[in-house]
Amino acid sequence: MPDHLIIFDTTLRDGEQSPGASMTREEKMRIAKQLERLKADVIEAGFPASSNGDFEAVRAKDIRRAGDALKGAHSGRVHTFIASSPIHMQMKLRMTPDQVLEQAIKSVRLAREYTEDVEFSPEDAGRSEPDFLCRLVEAAINAGATTINIPDTVGYTMPWQFGALIKTLRERIPNSDKAVWSVHCHNDLGMAVANSLSAVMNGARQVECTINGLGERAGNASLEEIVMAVKTRKDVFPCTTRIDTTQIVAASKLVSSITGFPVQPNKAIVGANAFAHESGIHQDGVLKHRETYEIMRAEDVGWGANKLVLGKLSGRNAFKTRLAELGIDLGTEEAVNHAFARFKELADKKGEVFDEDLHALVSDEQVTPEGEHYKLVALKVVSETGEVPQAEVTLVAGDNEHSVHTRGDGPIDATFRAIEQMVHSRAKMILYSVNAITTGTDAQGEVTVRLDRDGRIVNGLGADTDILVASAKAYINALNKLHSKQERLNPQLAA
Ligand code: MN
Repeated sequence: MPDHLIIFDTTLRDGEQSPGASMTREEKMRIAKQLERLKADVIEAGFPASSNGDFEAVRAKDIRRAGDALKGAHSGRVHTFIASSPIHMQMKLRMTPDQVLEQAIKSVRLAREYTEDVEFSPEDAGRSEPDFLCRLVEAAINAGATTINIPDTVGYTMPWQFGALIKTLRERIPNSDKAVWSVHCHNDLGMAVANSLSAVMNGARQVECTINGLGERAGNASLEEIVMAVKTRKDVFPCTTRIDTTQIVAASKLVSSITGFPVQPNKAIVGANAFAHESGIHQDGVLKHRETYEIMRAEDVGWGANKLVLGKLSGRNAFKTRLAELGIDLGTEEAVNHAFARFKELADKKGEVFDEDLHALVSDEQVTPEGEHYKLVALKVVSETGEVPQAEVTLVAGDNEHSVHTRGDGPIDATFRAIEQMVHSRAKMILYSVNAITTGTDAQGEVTVRLDRDGRIVNGLGADTDILVASAKAYINALNKLHSKQERLNPQLAA
């Protein structure tokens, strides 16, 4: 029997750390549900809220918070880490190696008070001294760590070096067989997947990765590439994963839509062109015998699985059931009724409604538990060759309705200017993108607007069969997110 390779997904933790990819609690829940359908073995849900203050106190508090968060969970793991490279210990932590060792032991012991499943990572292991790394890891295992994760935090190592490091550590550390070996690789030199797989060949049995390779800077090892490499090259790898690969494309689309990070067309596995054959010779070959140019089947990773789930005649119950299956919880019956009314409108316009449409439908609706502060009431846009585009926008802010008519460079610019004249958000727009949710000209357009105000970055999503309306919704959705943060931070200032 081949070994089980544990797939540890960190889209919700490391992925969320990419600039601009912050997610709301509800968005995280929907991604978590999809990761569950994908059968990821471990889902890293996020950092406990850290606070300023004394290093050791914060650390203990963070571990206690993480531990408390697991209460009631079916199975829970606490992941604790401390930097072990000379540069991190000296320059960042300002601690001696002995102090780091002592702190690591304390952290693991504290985490063990909450769960028997404790993961320990020496941060920046790729640039740490092997001798110290051995001492540190041995001590962490003795203190109760059951998974040892070796991160290449800065994406610096080469595959053969990283594989050799895992091998050396496993051979030199006397109690190494008491823990599962894991790796966490970053993609700064494009080596994250190669480094992870090299580690697997040298005994690692857990890989930390993210959907679409999302993550800090150049990102993490991408889950879909790791999983499909191991599956496609069974002849090379001594292990298999339990991932339901047919859920990969749906996961990719969901993460892309929620974060507003598009997937490049030539991205392996999940890029739009990953299974497209353009040249005549290739097309001819594939038609005669698929395996001439295809090493994987598109349907095995979930392409072409845009399943028709609902249509014009679907009732409220079918709608509600499908939302539940997708992990979407609208909270109140009133919210379900509102969403159902919008679903009916959409079904009237485009006939067939896919899962992706349902995700988009709720993405631009749900902002905060307390509801939307700004709501789009009406939009009128005039755009004609040779004329200056104009927009008239009516929106509700709190209890008041406002209306503004203005001009702009283009219809979208005019729309956004009108909204801004009413809201005065002072936010800077750092991204505007339009994508088709499903194929076909009757598909909904999905717009992402990323706003930055004083360093706080939020993503707004809007979907509609009319991209001008989708754009206005996306902008307002982002404004609502900014507004809601403000309320939470400073409730007495809320308008
Ligand atoms: Mn990382």
